[in-house]
Amino acid sequence: MSDKPRCCEMYVHRGDFRRRQCDKNGTVCRDGKWYCKKHDPVAAEQAKAEKVEKWEARCAEHNEIIRRRAAEISACSSLPTAALEAGVVGMMREALELVAEDAETPCGLPWTKVIAKVNAVLALLKEEKP
Ligand SMILES: [Zn+2]
Repeated sequence: MSDKPRCCEMYVHRGDFRRRQCDKNGTVCRDGKWYCKKHDPVAAEQAKAEKVEKWEARCAEHNEIIRRRAAEISACSSLPTAALEAGVVGMMREALELVAEDAETPCGLPWTKVIAKVNAVLALLKEEKP
């Protein structure tokens, strides 16, 4: 018989549903009781905190996806589907970027490019009602 202290943790055995004491040797003593690495209450609490932290990170990620989808639906609900498929949002952004570039260097305005983009966007938006 080993003289090492046994882990004091009790668990329900799957085979017969009886409570049994863990059969591993104790590696750490907490408040006078020995625990194995698996049942160390401090380690278990730390592992639980890590799980909760991971779960909260996943929930935050999921909530951000939901928030993003709601914003996309809200922003695009008035736009025709075919226009969205043709990339109308990106085209609007490009047109605005051209205008913004001109604001930085007022003399170099590429209005023909801006007007071409705006007309392409308007043509897509007129094609279909959502
Ligand atoms: Zn144990």
